[in-house]
Amino acid sequence: MSRPEDTSSVTGHISSHVTRRRFLQSAGAGAALAVGRPLFASAQDATPSASPIAGPLVATNLPASWDREVDVVVVGSGAAAFAAAVTAKQAGADVVMLERAANPGGTTLISGSEYWIPNNSKMLAAGKTDPKDWALKYMSRLAYPQLYDPESPTLGLSQRHYDLIDTYYDTGAKAVDDLEKWGALISRIQPPFGYGQENEISDPDYHADLPENKAPHGRGLNPDPDKGGSGAVPVQMQAWTDKNGIPLLTEHRVVGVFQNSRGEVVGVQVENKGTQLAIRAKKGVVFGTGGFTQDPEKSLAYLRGPVFASCSVGTCTGDFLDIGIALGAELDNMGQAWFLQCPLEMALQAPSLPGADVWLPWGDSMVIVNRFGDRVTTEKMVYNERGQTHHYWSPQLREYPNLVQFMIYDDAVAQDPAEFAFRFPIPAPGDKADYVISGDTWEELATNIDARLDSVRGKGSISARVGPNVKLADDFVDKLGQTINRFNGYAESGTDEQFGRGSTPIQVAWGAGTTRSPQLKNPTMAAFSGNGPYHCIMLGGMTLDTKGGPVIDTGAHVMRVNGTPIPGLYGAGNCVASPAGQAYWSGGGTIGPALTYGYIAGQNVAAEAEKSVD
Ligand SMILES: Cc1cc2nc3c(=O)[nH]c(=O)nc-3n(C[C@H](O)[C@H](O)[C@H](O)COP(=O)(O)OP(=O)(O)OC[C@H]3O[C@@H](n4cnc5c(N)ncnc54)[C@H](O)[C@@H]3O)c2cc1C
Repeated sequence: MSRPEDTSSVTGHISSHVTRRRFLQSAGAGAALAVGRPLFASAQDATPSASPIAGPLVATNLPASWDREVDVVVVGSGAAAFAAAVTAKQAGADVVMLERAANPGGTTLISGSEYWIPNNSKMLAAGKTDPKDWALKYMSRLAYPQLYDPESPTLGLSQRHYDLIDTYYDTGAKAVDDLEKWGALISRIQPPFGYGQENEISDPDYHADLPENKAPHGRGLNPDPDKGGSGAVPVQMQAWTDKNGIPLLTEHRVVGVFQNSRGEVVGVQVENKGTQLAIRAKKGVVFGTGGFTQDPEKSLAYLRGPVFASCSVGTCTGDFLDIGIALGAELDNMGQAWFLQCPLEMALQAPSLPGADVWLPWGDSMVIVNRFGDRVTTEKMVYNERGQTHHYWSPQLREYPNLVQFMIYDDAVAQDPAEFAFRFPIPAPGDKADYVISGDTWEELATNIDARLDSVRGKGSISARVGPNVKLADDFVDKLGQTINRFNGYAESGTDEQFGRGSTPIQVAWGAGTTRSPQLKNPTMAAFSGNGPYHCIMLGGMTLDTKGGPVIDTGAHVMRVNGTPIPGLYGAGNCVASPAGQAYWSGGGTIGPALTYGYIAGQNVAAEAEKSVD
């Protein structure tokens, strides 16, 4: 198994930054791994090679003999899959794990391994409380903002959506406590690393400022490297599955399921290095196969807006979506993803970009503008919210004016020696990065940006392209000048009247951290220098991965369109419709539900009766 660098001293999202060296390796690895369907025909496009599932997806003619027979087949080897495998095994089931890639761990392995668990026992032990009614309001408001109604018994959500969140609150804490009790995942509260958080037990939740958030510190957990041996979720959990006799078969891609005459899922069709295998699952099958961003066709078809890349591993092409559709599963949340930004030119080279994520743009004299020279939001907003600004559609212009954004900063930022967690993508002084564009004056910078855009024109990746419209507006330099003048005024007064930069706890915790921050009126903003050079990094929208797919109920059963479960079939993590809806509740907001619903799936599948194969 390829192990991540030790993430013990730095946690969560930092790891993506501290592992820039690893990124350069993994970007190459990502390109090699990426196997989705091609959307772009041009050879210059950094597009994955085709590898859709060719077979029947659902087979009802059952094999006369099976290559392997177990109680439970778990598909994938990320957070959701490991939680299901451990829990099913602990409940007495005989389990096998099947992983498509050559190395296990999925996107979870390269993540920060933080999991957001409301009302967890660690925060309670630290003296915090997390009242359920408020936690549900917080989660519901962010998951379905267009429906949220605090007066409604389901907070304005459909009963199904409400129940998934309710169950998450009730079960998440028990899931991580049980995983710890069994020795599979030893957790701790993720220690703070943000600016000015020395006296808190953790960094603040991403939306600590919302009135519904009554527990802004302590919900984010991560593996305890001192007690568990590794800071990475899959590494800890694989140590347990290895010890407890769960085979993990890599290069085993599940390409379909077997259904018996009663419509029960009784096994999986597997492709292993060109050989077809049939593996019987006497009790059932759990999918934890990640999202679908790496399939450009699916991303174009379903996502709410264009994306240039994903930091998911290249094998996350949505195989379970194809299988679920073939089985008649209901789909939900298809337009949503865990959104993010990345350096555009990296995305154009490799659409699977683990480690090239712009979590919180660093720098005080720094703004992010669109091609018209206008800021589009507070630059210090968390990634999921900022990532969605790329999707804004202008009815007047009939284009996505924020498709490509320009992170512009002065030389004081470039030369600042601060080693802050989120400094990437701005190189340290003395380091060089090809994607940085510089100019001695604003005019020269604009000329150089235009030239760089021309050099990548026509190139695309995943579901977006640098098309003919993606060029700086004729009055860009004037407009940028106005934007910078306004911004300088905000920096001097300490108040960003346009977007409230630095006005929420996370924006300061993760958005300050320059050498000048302690001296600034607002630690996230400093006035731009009147003298160049100035610098620019072009940004594109990306995902951590998608979070739509087949619907599950509170028991992690995969549901048909008619509201009945598909017997013997379970799902968790990014391959199913997420309980989080649109939300990124906070750091760990993806792995928290993956672990929780993986645990639920493991419990329920182990309790199933053996199914006959006729
Ligand atoms: C740099 C980075 C930092 C991140 N930090 C965090 C964080 O701190 N907290 C957080 O909550 N989220 C974080 N994320 C996001 C998080 O990693 C993912 O959302 C999460 O790990 C997904 O877990 P999963 O179990 O659903 O799927 P994955 O971990 O993606 O696992 C899916 C697995 O299924 C396999 N697979 C796919 N198809 C098949 C098939 N047909 N047959 C067999 N196997 C198959 C894949 O190869 C893969 O190994 C981060 C992501 C990145 C890239």
